[in-house]
Amino acid sequence: MRFDRRPILIAFPLALLLLESTGLGFSSFLQNHVHSRITVAALSATGFAPSTYSQGSGGARWIDVDQPDDMSSGFTVPRYHCTRDSVSTDRASLASASFAAFEATAAEVRARRAAIVGALHGVTAAQTDRIGIARAHLGYALHAIQDAYAHSNWVDLDAASRSAFESMIIGNVKPDRRRLARLSVCSWVGGLLGGSPTDGAGRADLYPHDAFCKDDDGGYPEAVKPAPHPARSGETKRMAAEAGAYVATIAYLASIEKRVTAREWDLFRGVPAPVTPTAARSVAAPGPEPAKAKSSPTPGITGTLDARAGN
Ligand SMILES: [Zn+2]
Repeated sequence: MRFDRRPILIAFPLALLLLESTGLGFSSFLQNHVHSRITVAALSATGFAPSTYSQGSGGARWIDVDQPDDMSSGFTVPRYHCTRDSVSTDRASLASASFAAFEATAAEVRARRAAIVGALHGVTAAQTDRIGIARAHLGYALHAIQDAYAHSNWVDLDAASRSAFESMIIGNVKPDRRRLARLSVCSWVGGLLGGSPTDGAGRADLYPHDAFCKDDDGGYPEAVKPAPHPARSGETKRMAAEAGAYVATIAYLASIEKRVTAREWDLFRGVPAPVTPTAARSVAAPGPEPAKAKSSPTPGITGTLDARAGN
């Protein structure tokens, strides 16, 4: 996603200097207030400790990508942002290039989940480096999932296609082009730096980022249009894309929880281990063994958008 610089300018004078020098931004999570809003709401609803995502907790343990989003960094990879790196000036080429871009992003998101589960397998509280690696992978995956909603025409698709899109992008179902026949994905070419990409003959791309991106109301004409399938009155395409990205973010987190132990899930979320009341037990009369420690509950994993704070 393109990012809104305003929050960064207020909070991070140093980041401002970096922006001035590179012309582009910081890393994923902070760079765009919509990414930040979706991620914080979903992590909070899923019981992640605020220290795992709050500004200032710092370092590799943060849930975020670990590279700046500028043209010279390793984060500038189309599949990390669900974008096409081609110019499509006819419908057939747009359809095939869009599905290829979507498929590559879905594969990336699925690979990140395998990496998260691998890093967490058998992890202990002392292995903060492994927990940090898992959180960084989560940062990349969530950015890619959320971008898929902002950088495609998901909001315009029918209900069956929208639902198929969700299970495919979070890696639960293999991408199937027949179920996403009308999918369009934004072109990255030129879009990241502004402007409208054209082919060698000067023909314009049919679905350029700067015209169709839906991650910010400012500057993107598509974002402020009414949603074709509004869930509530007055819903714009940006709002619909954000709501879809939130639901997919929650579903992706649930798919990770399913693949790890309760203890690994707690360590990933920064939830402290339950305290075993050994002192109390030693003076009490002999009785049944205390129940095995369970993981803390995950309040919002099945929650809905209505549970979201401030939106
Ligand atoms: Zn992005």
